[in-house]
Amino acid sequence: MSVDLLIIGGGPAGMAAAIQAARLGLQATIVERDRLGGQANAAPWIENYPGFPEGITGKELMSIFERQLKRWPVKVVYDEAKDIVSYEAKSVLLAVGLTPKLAGVPGEIPYGDPDRIDHSGKDVLVIGGGDSAFDLAWGFAKKARRVTIGMRGETPRALPKLVTRAASSGVQLKTNWSPLDNSYDVVISCVGKQAKHPLFEKMEKASNLFLAGDICHVEDRHVAIAAGDGIAAAQSAYRFLNLPQRRKGAEKYKAI
Ligand SMILES: Cc1cc2nc3c(=O)[nH]c(=O)nc-3n(C[C@H](O)[C@H](O)[C@H](O)COP(=O)(O)OP(=O)(O)OC[C@H]3O[C@@H](n4cnc5c(N)ncnc54)[C@H](O)[C@@H]3O)c2cc1C
Repeated sequence: MSVDLLIIGGGPAGMAAAIQAARLGLQATIVERDRLGGQANAAPWIENYPGFPEGITGKELMSIFERQLKRWPVKVVYDEAKDIVSYEAKSVLLAVGLTPKLAGVPGEIPYGDPDRIDHSGKDVLVIGGGDSAFDLAWGFAKKARRVTIGMRGETPRALPKLVTRAASSGVQLKTNWSPLDNSYDVVISCVGKQAKHPLFEKMEKASNLFLAGDICHVEDRHVAIAAGDGIAAAQSAYRFLNLPQRRKGAEKYKAI
């Protein structure tokens, strides 16, 4: 059966879209290859999502999203979408986020949820100099024996607040770090994201395809933006499905 809105990706953008779509009376299905919450599950502490004045861990925030999602008749299918054409849907929302880049250092792993990376009592190197690197290093410092940030330049690009917080939890900073210096138990790459998701590359313009979340904001990756995008995309899908005269405004991509 053809659903009204097929949402690929169950991160904050996909879950927010599904809640809004269901509220609008659309039949929505989420296809998620891993777990609901996406990258936000890796965020050690989120202090810029409105409504949580003291801040909240990414995992807790995502479990609240999931609780809210479960109140609505949204189907969640655990599967990796390889393309879009194999699904029957009247409209599709791509909310797949972005794939982490690798630094090209032997043995490195892409950044992710600290709880899924065995780092307890270990010597950890986080490669990168941005917000996520300092945020994650701080997260790893709770259980690791030692955490070092290796960055290529001299000046961190991260928020000063995140740099200070990492330093005060014992994280060491190596500026002008060389890839030859990788004698660590765990090496985690945190050097940004690939500008496009492979699914996105297989698409061309179509009026029933919408985008939301990090995939639209390579530079500004935030949960609130992703959630807001998801809601806006569900509204656009609703208008596309119910108000043909307004179809012109919809974002336009299609699988090829
Ligand atoms: C360490 C770290 C700290 C962060 N800290 C903050 C913070 O403090 N504040 C803040 O606002 N934001 C923070 N963020 C950013 C925030 O997590 C992201 O902006 C947000 O998760 C983006 O949501 P999204 O739904 O667009 O994508 P994602 O969260 O990436 O979700 C995409 C989902 O799509 C799924 N998917 C991908 N491809 C497929 C496929 N082919 N088939 C099926 N499923 C697929 C993935 O498994 C994933 O679950 C942080 C991120 C990290 C990594």
